Amino acid sequence: LVLKVRIDPRDACMGDDICVNLCPAVFIRDQDGKASIAPQYRVRGDISQGEVPDDLRSCVESAAQSCPVGIIIVE
Ligand code: SF4
Repeated sequence: LVLKVRIDPRDACMGDDICVNLCPAVFIRDQDGKASIAPQYRVRGDISQGEVPDDLRSCVESAAQSCPVGIIIVE
């Protein structure tokens, strides 16, 4: 099973690293100071879209619930 994750709209990211700290397997701090999907999980190289193994669901969901601007979307 694969989990679809988006950082959308990524421009709204505050760069507070909350998702990076809660779920470092999936979210990284990128060069512009905002969060991106870790390279190995990106969809067609898109830094804001990922397909993640289902065993990372709980960490992705905790990041989504903790994002202060609510831009981490899990499907
Ligand atoms: S928790 Fe939200 S605002 Fe904070 S770094 Fe992650 S995507 Fe950006």
